[in-house]
Amino acid sequence: MDAESVDILIAGGGPVGAALALALEGSGHSVILAEARSADSAGARSVPAGDARAIALSYASRLLLERMHAWPGLPVTPIETIHVSQQGGFGRTLIRAADCDVPALGYVANYDDLQRSLLAAPCSARRLFGARVSSFDGSKAIVQTREGEHVFAPRLTVFADGARVADQPGAPAYSKDYRQTALIAWVRTEQAHHGRAWERFTPEGPLALLPHGAGYALVWTIAPERSAHLAALDTPAFLAELHAAFGERLGAFLEAGERSAFPLVLRYRREETRPRSLAVGNAAQTLHPVAGQGFNLGLRDAWELAQFAHDARDPGSERFIAAYRRARSLDRRAGIRFTDSLVGLFSNSDPLLKLGRGAGLLALDLLPFARRFVARRMIYGARGLP
Ligand SMILES: Cc1cc2nc3c(=O)[nH]c(=O)nc-3n(C[C@H](O)[C@H](O)[C@H](O)COP(=O)(O)OP(=O)(O)OC[C@H]3O[C@@H](n4cnc5c(N)ncnc54)[C@H](O)[C@@H]3O)c2cc1C
Repeated sequence: MDAESVDILIAGGGPVGAALALALEGSGHSVILAEARSADSAGARSVPAGDARAIALSYASRLLLERMHAWPGLPVTPIETIHVSQQGGFGRTLIRAADCDVPALGYVANYDDLQRSLLAAPCSARRLFGARVSSFDGSKAIVQTREGEHVFAPRLTVFADGARVADQPGAPAYSKDYRQTALIAWVRTEQAHHGRAWERFTPEGPLALLPHGAGYALVWTIAPERSAHLAALDTPAFLAELHAAFGERLGAFLEAGERSAFPLVLRYRREETRPRSLAVGNAAQTLHPVAGQGFNLGLRDAWELAQFAHDARDPGSERFIAAYRRARSLDRRAGIRFTDSLVGLFSNSDPLLKLGRGAGLLALDLLPFARRFVARRMIYGARGLP
């Protein structure tokens, strides 16, 4: 079978792959986006099937999504303050949007709405749904669809296929199982959120409540066995456990939506050994959701890659790939280190560490410049807005 030439093949049309296709608008390159999930024929627009996750988008991600015309119409709840504390220990800090001169520290959106918004934005890439990239040998990519097999010869293949780093041959990956599960659900509390997010560190793992519509998106990180136990409880019993873990600050927990569980790992590629390919988003680095960094970092991958491609005659050349990897290295490493050390530092009950954590949170609360530094890092990443 003859291979069809294309400049850039994006393998995976999740939020990062879809964003990359938008960011490549006007680059002059032909682009194919191949997404394994099928199009949702029920909607007016093509949307892959559902994911219950809520995603905290940083203010910098809002700016990038605006540039991609994917922001207008995206339903979001702004985060104006973030309250950080530890269970059973002193010290807490409050980070405010005003600390870093932004209208909001971030915005909470449904994964599905984000995906829908990215796919609805004007895009001239050829988008194939129900199209699984089944192999890539460095020069040819095979894509399976219902109609049969298509062979492409891309100048550059970008893997945006999510947390599948370990499955891909020729891509050595670092992998660490946190032995934690993120239990997620929408919940409503007695007290309204007023734009405040809560990050509460417990010995079992962090418990986050992100303002989301009239309630909160809960991300509760716990041991897999306890997650299974909590997921099986009836709603009143689940809400009582949540209340006990979070404390009294929001009054009673009144309502909970459907619960889903995500096992948590840290996984990232050390290097890409196949020519004419690279990875972005979760395919390049899958992070613990503790600081809500995964998509934000992936979006910066996509944006920066597209900026390089706008200026490149051959986006798959060794020089192009090396320059892109160099440019992304600092932000990626900082994102990986930051989330991994937060998990290590806060997910235990060592009394000395607890004391140190309390002092750290207190210091952060008293020192506006330190708060500003931490908040800006979370908003813009290690290299500032690309
Ligand atoms: C509980 C939880 C909470 C989170 N909260 C946040 C948050 O608050 N903020 C934040 O920034 N991040 C958050 N994240 C991380 C965020 O969800 C991911 O970083 C983000 O979804 C990565 O997007 P992606 O497009 O790279 O990968 P994915 O979302 O995994 O999408 C990959 C896509 O590739 C497709 N695909 C897979 N294989 C193939 C193939 N062979 N061929 C074609 N297509 C393929 C899949 O169908 C999918 O659509 C959270 C993660 C979890 C688990």
